[in-house]
Formats: sequence, structure tokens, C-alpha cells
Amino acid sequence: MPETLLAKRTRLAAYTTLKVGGEAELWEVNSTAELREASSEPFRVLGAGSNLLISDEGVKERVVKLGKSFNNLEDFSSSGEVWLGAATPLPGLVRRAASAGLSGWEGLLGIPAVLGGAIAMNAGTRYGCIADTLQEVELMVGGEIVRLFADELKLSYRHSELPQSAIITRAKFKLSSSSPETVEALLAKVDAARKGQPKIKSAGCAFKNPEPDSAGRLIDEAGLKGLRVGDAMVSLEHGNFIVNLGQASATDVLKLIDMIRSRVKTPLALEWQLWGFGEAGNG
Ligand SMILES: Cc1cc2nc3c(=O)[nH]c(=O)nc-3n(C[C@H](O)[C@H](O)[C@H](O)COP(=O)(O)OP(=O)(O)OC[C@H]3O[C@@H](n4cnc5c(N)ncnc54)[C@H](O)[C@@H]3O)c2cc1C
Repeated sequence: MPETLLAKRTRLAAYTTLKVGGEAELWEVNSTAELREASSEPFRVLGAGSNLLISDEGVKERVVKLGKSFNNLEDFSSSGEVWLGAATPLPGLVRRAASAGLSGWEGLLGIPAVLGGAIAMNAGTRYGCIADTLQEVELMVGGEIVRLFADELKLSYRHSELPQSAIITRAKFKLSSSSPETVEALLAKVDAARKGQPKIKSAGCAFKNPEPDSAGRLIDEAGLKGLRVGDAMVSLEHGNFIVNLGQASATDVLKLIDMIRSRVKTPLALEWQLWGFGEAGNG
């Protein structure tokens, strides 16, 4: 096994923004060869862990995380067309584009993802989503590297149709020329829209908006802000955020989700990806 390849039992809570989740075998990979080896057995891909609820029992599959060599923020070009590694963090990219006077990522401000996770979830806000600028993706599927055009992923609201067991390794984007001032003005708007969001541990919006309505509004209307199971609580600031006040377990969070669903009349689909819950989740 190459020296850099980390494959050890690890508590996944530390790798998620909600800080919940049990153990798995974590494989941190830094080359295509390592990725091929790590994904030769059943696996899941971990991005920045900002949209995940992982079971207290952890997951039985390997968990593959793309390491530093899949983060090439330094290659960011000012031409507007750029290939970037899937482990590149979104927040730095949004800022880098702004200072280069490139427009297209302003709506992604404040999303704590890496590119692979942002593409898999088609992350975005009402000001824009990753699909707006995505041109092509490079994926590892069954040990082989393949390329797909963005429209082949059928990106829609917080959804993508990646080939089965695909790992995004790189992606090509096209931004448009603007001026730093114009980009900054839109960033300020997006930032202002985020002001009401909690600053404590969470995994972003728990539920998809049952459009045209908003899950947060429905949860608020049902009087559920502040509802609590253990250290898991419906945020007082934003009804669609479940926050971890300290020692919340996945069991607490799931109980809270069930309570919310039973008290809101409109059916609410989870935006979060569930790992390790067997038939109950998507894992
Ligand atoms: C404070 C906060 C605010 C947020 N605000 C927003 C928001 O405004 N809009 C929004 O859309 N989301 C938001 N989110 C949710 C989250 O950031 C997004 O869903 C994001 O796209 C998840 O990316 P990630 O890298 O953390 O992926 P993870 O949570 O690690 O994984 C999510 C999914 O992507 C898959 N995945 C990850 N990497 C790859 C890869 N390389 N190849 C294939 N599949 C992969 C995983 O297997 C999993 O199914 C917020 C979260 C937080 C904590």
C-alpha cells in the first residue's frame, strides 16, 4: 500500500459539519492509482461532510476522501475557463473568482462544500447553482477515468444523476467576465440573505423546499423552532436548520426529523444524505 494512503478506522463525526456519526474505514487518496485501489471494494465518497447525517454505528463501506492533490485552487486561471480538482473548497473559489472579476459563482457564497460534493448535490441558492457554470466532469467509474458533459448529469434542484459508484475527480467550469465591483455587489446581496442562518454546528437545510413553499417557513408556522431531542434542536434562527448544541447523536437527530415530519402537514423530503441507516436511509 502506498505510504500516503490512510486507511484506518476513524470516527466520521470529525469529518462532518454536524459533528455526528460513528466509525468507518477512511481512505484518504492522493492519486488516481490510490483512488482506484480505495474504490475496489464497496465505498462511499466523502466531500466536506456538510450535507451528511451519519449513523452512530458508522458505515460498513469504505469511506473515500479525496486528499490535497485533488485540490488545485492554485491553478485558478483568470480566463474564465478552468479545470479544478473535486476536493477544491468552494469558499476560496468564490472569493478568487470575485477578485479576478469573474461572475457565475456568487450564489455559492457561504456554502461550505468541496467541488465534488457541490456537483453531486447541485449546490446553490436562489442566486444561482453549480450547474450554471459547470461544463464537464471527470469521473472514476469502475476504476476507469471517464468524462461527461454537464448536461449528462441531469442536474436539478439539489439533485444529480451520476453514474452508479462514480467519483468526481475534476470538473471544468466557464465563468463570464465582469468587474470585481459588480461581482462584489452581488456577493453582498447573497451574504445579506444568509444573515439569518445559525452559526452553530449544522448540515445546512435538512429538508428540500416543497416548492413553491419553503420548508423553513412551514416548520416555523408549525411552531417547531426550538424543538429539541437531546442536543439536537430546530434552530431558533432558521426552521430548516437542525443544529447540534454539543453532544447530539444521530439517533437524537433522526427522532427530531420524525417529530418535524409528523407535525408539518406538507410532506418534507430530506435534502441531507443519510449514511449507515440501512433501509431507512439512502445508504
Ligand atoms: C452552514 C451550511 C450552509 C449551507 N448552505 C447551503 C446552501 O445555501 N445551498 C446548498 O445547496 N447547500 C447548502 N449546504 C449544504 C451543503 O454544503 C451542500 O449540500 C454541499 O453541496 C455538500 O458538499 P460536501 O462537499 O460537503 O459533500 P458531502 O456532504 O460530503 O457529500 C454530499 C453528497 O455528495 C457526494 N459526493 C461528495 N464528493 C463527491 C465526489 N467527489 N464524487 C461523487 N460524489 C461525491 C457524497 O457521496 C454525498 O452523497 C449548507 C451546509 C451548511 C453546513
